[in-house]
Amino acid sequence: MRQFDYVRAASPSEAAHVASEASAKFIAGGTNLLDLMKLQVEVPDKLVDITRLSLKSIEEVGGGLRIGALVTNSDLAADERVRRDYEVLSRALLAGASGQLRNKATTGGNLLQRTRCGYFYETTARCNKREPGSGCDGREGFNRILAVLGTSESCIATHPSDMAVAMRALDAVVETLKSDGSTREIPIAELHRLPGATPQIETSLEPGELITAVRLPKPVEGVHLYRKVRDRASYAFALVSVAAIVRMDGGRIAEARLAFGGLGTVPWRDPAVEAALKGQAPSDALFAEAADLLLKDAKGFGDNDFKLELTRRTLPAVLHDATRGEN
Ligand SMILES: Cc1cc2nc3c(=O)[nH]c(=O)nc-3n(C[C@H](O)[C@H](O)[C@H](O)COP(=O)(O)OP(=O)(O)OC[C@H]3O[C@@H](n4cnc5c(N)ncnc54)[C@H](O)[C@@H]3O)c2cc1C
Repeated sequence: MRQFDYVRAASPSEAAHVASEASAKFIAGGTNLLDLMKLQVEVPDKLVDITRLSLKSIEEVGGGLRIGALVTNSDLAADERVRRDYEVLSRALLAGASGQLRNKATTGGNLLQRTRCGYFYETTARCNKREPGSGCDGREGFNRILAVLGTSESCIATHPSDMAVAMRALDAVVETLKSDGSTREIPIAELHRLPGATPQIETSLEPGELITAVRLPKPVEGVHLYRKVRDRASYAFALVSVAAIVRMDGGRIAEARLAFGGLGTVPWRDPAVEAALKGQAPSDALFAEAADLLLKDAKGFGDNDFKLELTRRTLPAVLHDATRGEN
């Protein structure tokens, strides 16, 4: 057991201030961080407990919703407004983890959960994310669950969150508080960073920067779907998941918002795919073209090659259901 200090923050600004010191970590639900600490993958000197902060409400703001960072995944999925107006989010949340975990897991923690790559968790393996410069055993190793999009020489770890995928389709905005007291609004597309040569830097957040809320814009009209393909029906991460919001007009696709989990090193969205669908009449050929476009730069590493074919089947199936108005 490694020793660490424990501080219970009385206010968001105290939390951000205290956590700016070297190797401090916020703890919210603890469902990811505590596992990583037990394995000594994460070894913070200080835990800043944010669970008593008043960041637990869901408010209507500017026609959309403002979700406090400590709203649990269960409460968010069950919220009447989310179920009615942001169905894709409710569905994605309910596809994640288990009831027990969702009762503890928070909005901020879910966004910042770390990859489930086995080599990241195994401290005797080489992992550039855990130990920069050590190498990546995932590329040549057992990489069945790892990424095919957004990978680099240094890292092919998949981003694991279901919730973040739905939020990407919704163009959510992350509100933060920095240690100097200033605040920021970060479009979710800019929160998670591609691994490149520095896979240990996973987000655009600064040390001590606290997520205080996530804002959803006005409801997006259309059929909302979240399809998650996984090894078990529950309690399993996505092999491939698709968050889809599709609006039809006169038999043609007026707008398709599509985000993907299980494929990318970050929650994935590709504007070219959405542009190719816009204004078109649904057809098998169009859907196959969309999948090909999505996978244009995809690269399998052996065990995970099947994700390419799985995506070629899953995306057209989702588009088929969404354009028929069935869910
Ligand atoms: C068995 C199992 C199965 C799972 N299956 C799924 C699944 O299918 N889909 C899925 O999406 N997830 C799944 N999860 C992951 C789960 O959803 C996450 O562990 C959870 O959402 C993390 O939230 P938390 O509040 O517990 O975060 P914590 O563990 O408390 O924190 C996670 C990270 O976020 C940071 N953090 C937390 N809150 C803030 C904040 N407000 N501001 C800044 N930093 C913050 C912490 O410092 C830490 O680095 C699974 C987990 C387990 C254990």
